[in-house]
Amino acid sequence: MSESEQVIEPRESVFDHVIEVILIKYRWVFVLLFLLPLSIIYDLYYKVRNFIVFHLKSAPHIHDARVKIIQEQVKNWNESAKDQKMCTSRPGWQTISFRQGKYKKQLYNINLTTLIDILHIDIDRKIIRVEPMVTMGQISASLKPLGWTLPVLPELDDLTVGGLIMGVGIETSSHKYGLFQHCCESFEVLLSTGELVKCSRDNNSDLFYAIPWSYGTLGFLVAAEIRMIPAKKYVKLTYTPVSNLDALNSEFAKQANAKGENDFVEAIVYSIDKAVVMTGTFSEQYEPGKLNPQGFFWKPWFYKHVEHILNKQQPVVEYIPLRHYYHRHSKSIFWELNDIVPFGNNPIFRYLFGWAMPPKISLLKRTQSQAIKKLYEKYHFIQDMLVPLTSLKESLLLFDKELRIYPIWLCPFFLPQLPGMVHPPIESGSDGAMYVDIGAYGSVTLPSYHAKNTSMLVEKFVRAEHGFQMLYADCYMNKQEFREMFDLSLYEKMRSKLNCERAFPEIWDKINIGART
Ligand SMILES: Cc1cc2nc3c(=O)[nH]c(=O)nc-3n(C[C@H](O)[C@H](O)[C@H](O)COP(=O)(O)OP(=O)(O)OC[C@H]3O[C@@H](n4cnc5c(N)ncnc54)[C@H](O)[C@@H]3O)c2cc1C
Repeated sequence: MSESEQVIEPRESVFDHVIEVILIKYRWVFVLLFLLPLSIIYDLYYKVRNFIVFHLKSAPHIHDARVKIIQEQVKNWNESAKDQKMCTSRPGWQTISFRQGKYKKQLYNINLTTLIDILHIDIDRKIIRVEPMVTMGQISASLKPLGWTLPVLPELDDLTVGGLIMGVGIETSSHKYGLFQHCCESFEVLLSTGELVKCSRDNNSDLFYAIPWSYGTLGFLVAAEIRMIPAKKYVKLTYTPVSNLDALNSEFAKQANAKGENDFVEAIVYSIDKAVVMTGTFSEQYEPGKLNPQGFFWKPWFYKHVEHILNKQQPVVEYIPLRHYYHRHSKSIFWELNDIVPFGNNPIFRYLFGWAMPPKISLLKRTQSQAIKKLYEKYHFIQDMLVPLTSLKESLLLFDKELRIYPIWLCPFFLPQLPGMVHPPIESGSDGAMYVDIGAYGSVTLPSYHAKNTSMLVEKFVRAEHGFQMLYADCYMNKQEFREMFDLSLYEKMRSKLNCERAFPEIWDKINIGART
């Protein structure tokens, strides 16, 4: 770039600088005084509203009318704005992903925010029908009293059905049931023409298999049917500490493959040679003295509680109430909250303010200053990489060498050989393979770390291992590399069949690093 072409950054005033320093160093003050009260009001409003709507059973009657209004918006696009592509109007700050799409402002926004209700629970068919903005917290609260649950119920309360189907969803039961998408029975999708279609494994199956991971680039999801399974009151959780990488690798693989024995499997890795492997089974009762109501506000953050078990010589057994188990990582947003409210796990803080935690991720994002965004971009790594279980050891060694951020979350999942963007290599000839989600979230202090170069190196490794990257996080791959990672054959066939080229951007155009701030 020549000197004359150089962009001259506006100089920061001393005042701006002081404000930035205060916002970064004392963000917790703002979180405590402003975001927590706001989060409480927000949550309370929706809890009361959802309770009333659910118990009055009013949503099913208005669902069709809501969809008609959305259909009208798509028809208007067809008549007037075909040179602009469409996307949902949900603002980027409201999603769980730490990034926000730049495209929202340029594209034609379709408002789906009215679709927030559970429509029907059919115990005979073991099916729950929901609108796409229904959250995991809403589902677990409604199903638990009835003695049912979802086979895969991703843990953060605010994750939505739409995001988990159009993106990806995983939980510690995924070694048995696969990803969230594999527990879905049907999708109701509004196409770019405004036509409403239903698809399932047997009906319109190409669309059914093409929808997951498509990020809203084939149509708008307006309802989904998800399978339910019977639930019990508690999860009997066995924590097994391991003290070297080989022991972790073999214990984790053994437990992930013991589908008949374990309802839940996860591990938290605290350093390259220290981890705790957790296995859970549903239980109707608990043994005296072993109950841990982990979700109560005064309880330590879950990953901190688990860390204490590293020093034990023997496995530890506890019984955790089911909803407390499902949302065990919500209170500390895995370990992300440690950077924002560093004393959040202090017992005094927990007793005084724990009941108000955590602040809403959406509000945290909404109130992020530019300086914090830049710091996150430069030093904060947040990625879930999905690799075959056989690559676990090698992956952890690479993560340790290039990132060295701990804890790391490990969650196994079975990936069936089905059509769509994500499946094991077809040449393997198997009906599926066990994979593991490696979740690395935190600030990197290694001097060799460079956000772009290191991420590209990790992405390259994951591609070579026939793995996949969750697309909510920073994606540095170019289009070609993206095509190497994901099987786009069915997706592209459906894009052309359903006239999506003019109607929706491609996935890569929505999720690549340049498309987000
Ligand atoms: C801190 C953090 C923790 C996480 N924890 C977990 C976890 O525990 N388990 C897990 O499985 N995942 C987790 N994730 C990843 C998460 O599953 C994905 O980011 C998921 O896609 C986000 O869901 P969302 O509800 O925020 O959806 P969004 O980000 O709103 O949606 C994802 C995409 O789908 C599109 N979309 C959504 N709804 C519709 C619709 N109705 N019609 C058309 N398009 C639609 C959106 O336009 C967007 O492109 C985590 C992510 C973060 C950042």
